[in-house]
Amino acid sequence: MAGWIDSHTHLEIFVRKNELDAVLDRAREAGLEGVVTIGTRPGDWDLYRRIAAERASFVAFTAGLHPCDVDEGWEAAVAELKRFLESGAAPAAVGETGLDRFHLPADEEGAATALARQEASFRAHIDLATARGLPLVVHSRGAFADCVRVIDDSGFDWERVVFHCFADGPDEVRELNRRGGRASFTGILTYKSAENVRDALREQGPERLMLETDAPYLTPVPHRGKRNEPAYLRHTAAVAAEVLGVEEPHLAEITTANARRFYGLAE
Ligand SMILES: [Zn+2]
Ligand SMILES: [Zn+2]
Repeated sequence: MAGWIDSHTHLEIFVRKNELDAVLDRAREAGLEGVVTIGTRPGDWDLYRRIAAERASFVAFTAGLHPCDVDEGWEAAVAELKRFLESGAAPAAVGETGLDRFHLPADEEGAATALARQEASFRAHIDLATARGLPLVVHSRGAFADCVRVIDDSGFDWERVVFHCFADGPDEVRELNRRGGRASFTGILTYKSAENVRDALREQGPERLMLETDAPYLTPVPHRGKRNEPAYLRHTAAVAAEVLGVEEPHLAEITTANARRFYGLAE
């Protein structure tokens, strides 16, 4: 039986707490056969590249500047990303990058400045992904139409785009799928109030689905209140299988093949 892949997680906290091996062991025990650790700022790229080199059969990595980490120094960070991509082992994707309206400064002017910076950084990431021939991991919070517009403008290949931690609804997922893009889903699927997100999953169906924890955030039911980790992907997977009306082994096979193809991971 195919194992599962946590296609979007952040391992840094487990390294800091000296728990990485224990966390990855628990992931294996839970039936995972791989994780993709997602870079969010210059401080985690080298760490993730090293972890992935040491555990190449289980861990892959990406590098990007999270929209919430885009500040006045973003141009230097993106220049550093360019250098990072040009030297050493290539990441599996560029990102996460995108737009986040949920964590903007309260004042109108500050918010506009922050959002303009996020968009400029997002565009620069798309250019880097294009130049390096890599797929793109998009973070979109309250900014779906704008993220779509930026990617449409760029001419980037939608087949190589994932909107991770999808939290919009069926109409939005249809927009992505129509273009060739896809959504990936987190533990939000297990939340009682998230019927709209489950509808989005139903709309997309299993064919291009990827699953993720986005750990240490967004812990699925029944572990809410605890720190999320890759092993908990199984709770999200169980709900996804139920929502889609497919058997879990079948869903594991499809989602794992999709994650391997999308991120270019070896079998
Ligand atoms: Zn994100
Ligand atoms: Zn993330």
